[in-house]
Amino acid sequence: RFITVEGIDGAGKTTSVTHLTERLRGEGIEVVPTREPGGTALAESIRGLLKEGVEDEAPTEDTETLLMFAARAQHLDRLIRPALEAGQWVVCDRFTDATYAYQGGGRGVPDERIRVLEDWVHRGFQPDRTLLFNLPATEGLRRRAGAGLVGDRFEEGGVAFLQKVQAAYQERAMEEPERFHPIDAGREWPEVAAALDSWLDQELAQ
Ligand code: ATP
Ligand code: C5P
Ligand code: MG
Repeated sequence: RFITVEGIDGAGKTTSVTHLTERLRGEGIEVVPTREPGGTALAESIRGLLKEGVEDEAPTEDTETLLMFAARAQHLDRLIRPALEAGQWVVCDRFTDATYAYQGGGRGVPDERIRVLEDWVHRGFQPDRTLLFNLPATEGLRRRAGAGLVGDRFEEGGVAFLQKVQAAYQERAMEEPERFHPIDAGREWPEVAAALDSWLDQELAQ
């Protein structure tokens, strides 16, 4: 099964991927945790370009979108599809919904343009389930600052940017309520972990 984890910066995605991976392994399930942009050596190298730019040159919105999908094409063909074909679960920290949310909602790339690339790279492939971590933008930034995770090119947008990203995520979740499972990420971690556990119990029962 292919599970993706989405939400704004600082929502608790990476912490949750680790938690889900440990729990699934405890159940004897083979699981591959991974992330986007990244997940293979080449895709991680594209992540570096995206985060840092080159010298003082940052990618345009279109370049950013194309690089996201270039990284994703590599990740899908070299890691995600082979793992799923081998019967493993894949838990991915961000995926294509993040492109609609960040490059689309955040940076203003029209959805139709993203859709062309999605069709091209996915060839019909979609996640089985997507956990959407909902959190006010201000709280996400506060958590990230608390963790010392500040400073790269992606941090420049601030609260207004993340609010647009969050709104775009909400819109996508409303369009596909069967795939999306919302998580109230504003609670203390033990409560979030309990919500993840009960969701996972349901998934495993299917
Ligand atoms: P990013 O999008 O920036 O990668 P993320 O969604 O992966 O962020 P995490 O890295 O998991 O978020 O969490 C950000 C910080 O908030 C970390 O320091 C983490 O320990 C902390 N954190 C995670 N979940 C909670 C929670 N429910 N309550 C308080 N702090 C939390
Ligand atoms: O979640 P993670 O920390 O791995 O993401 C790295 C950065 O890339 C984040 O700051 C996020 O805002 C940004 N990003 C983006 N567009 C995406 C995926 C991630 O701008 N499609
Ligand atoms: Mg993270």
